[in-house]
Amino acid sequence: MKNEKMGKMQKAMLLCTVLPTLILGIAIAMLAVYLSRTALEKEVDSSLVANANMLKTILDENYPGAYAMMEDRSQGIVALFKGETELTGKFALIDAVKENSDTEMTVFYKDTRILTTVKTPDGLRAVGTGVNSAIVARVERTTAPLCVRTDIDGELYRACYIPLTNENGEFFGMIGAARSAEDMNRQADAMNAPIWVVTVLGTLMASLISIRYTGGVIAAIKKIHAFLGRMVSGELHGEMDMNVTGREDEIGETGKSIVRMQGAMQVLVERDPLTTLYNRRFGNAKLKHIAERSEKTGEGFAIAMGDIDFFKKVNDTYGHDAGDYVLKTVADELKRMMASRGAAVRWGGEEFLLIFENTKYGPVMHVLEFFLDRIRNAEIFYDGVRIPITMTMGVKEGRSDIDLNEQIKAVDELLYYGKEHGRNQLVLSVDEEETAALKERWAEKDPDEVCETVITFPEEMIDSESLMILLANNMEKNIEGDGSKHTQTDKMSVQTAEAGKDAEEADKEAAYEAADEKESNDE
Ligand code: GH3
Ligand code: MG
Ligand code: MG
Repeated sequence: MKNEKMGKMQKAMLLCTVLPTLILGIAIAMLAVYLSRTALEKEVDSSLVANANMLKTILDENYPGAYAMMEDRSQGIVALFKGETELTGKFALIDAVKENSDTEMTVFYKDTRILTTVKTPDGLRAVGTGVNSAIVARVERTTAPLCVRTDIDGELYRACYIPLTNENGEFFGMIGAARSAEDMNRQADAMNAPIWVVTVLGTLMASLISIRYTGGVIAAIKKIHAFLGRMVSGELHGEMDMNVTGREDEIGETGKSIVRMQGAMQVLVERDPLTTLYNRRFGNAKLKHIAERSEKTGEGFAIAMGDIDFFKKVNDTYGHDAGDYVLKTVADELKRMMASRGAAVRWGGEEFLLIFENTKYGPVMHVLEFFLDRIRNAEIFYDGVRIPITMTMGVKEGRSDIDLNEQIKAVDELLYYGKEHGRNQLVLSVDEEETAALKERWAEKDPDEVCETVITFPEEMIDSESLMILLANNMEKNIEGDGSKHTQTDKMSVQTAEAGKDAEEADKEAAYEAADEKESNDE
């Protein structure tokens, strides 16, 4: 995901994770702030009430007697008395309480400040200023302490008031204790700071985890998308990234299902349904691929074309289903032969193209001879009846510098030559000129003439030991043989084929390997 723009889906997934986390975080933080403020307020209130009560007690102890207001109307003076003592102007006591408790203290007569530590903005004591009359009314009515947020001279305070009574027990005034709301807010903010930090960190962490997780998910989805894109454009052999198939979640399952689907599509697109060999279309692509690789590596390849002899008769004699069964049996044998050697293709009805890769021409001849022998000796039973078959084949060394269709045509001509000259045999050619010469000779030949395997090869290969041995073997056996039209391979191969007739599948493959081995020994 590095350096990649975030896609729509990732944004949506991120939003789905981060938004609820953020909203929940803010809700929790706000609730925590509310609860902590309420708790702080309660704590402050009880300390303010305690301070008011303390001042009340101090005044009672120092100045016994009831509160009274003396008014000299003639002089316009009001004086606060407690018992015999006039308290007006005696600030020392409340100043001492303020100093000890860091609380503004006030003694009210009704709603008016008589003794107070509160100062006006110009620095004078706020004596004579009033408090909200609703507060006084409530304290007078309930005679219980009252705590409120209030504005004193333009500044916000938390203040608690306790009632004072005169000698008749009637409401006289109040003692108020107040603390600046700003102080309280600062204290509350300090308490709440960690909650906000945790909320922000939590949201950040949720975002990071989400980005990381969704990044992986999106990357896997993109890989699946790219893989499917390649499949749509015909590339059926791409490999799904291990990071997708290795996932143990729904995306991993999807990846594995797509890989299975790819396999199924390969079979549908590339295989022939009856024999499961490669079909002609894929065979062409495979040949092109092998030829290109051969050009790069310099390793040789060979092209063979095989056709079942008189197959129409098989259908006519044993029925179409029996014909199908024969085709499948031959195809299985071809697959066995071509496993690890190259590709077997069902080119037409009962015609097969074989592409040998990474191989020299000699071993190919040997393997094909051996194969034809196996087919001759094959015990193909259908409905309890043995169906004997033979095949004719043409084989040619592949060239990466010649048009592949031309090469297939040339191999087809070799096959045709075999058909025309007795069937049940392998026709070889290693050289273009020789093939042309061969064609000329065909014209002169009697098609009914008994034909041995045709081997032509260029001058430089005349010393090739394997070719000479094979040629010698064939000639010898055709002279000594029973007059049948097919050529034979060396003794060991025949023996192996006979021994393998009723053997298990593994033995069949071992037989091919023995044929290979024999060839390399010959070399
Ligand atoms: P040749 O030796 O010259 O090749 O003779 P042939 O009879 O094998 O060749 P021909 O081309 O005359 O006949 C091929 C037959 O193969 C005709 C066709 O019905 C049969 N065939 C083609 N495809 C299938 C198939 O899928 N199943 C069956 N059962 N028969 C098939
Ligand atoms: Mg045929
Ligand atoms: Mg045919």
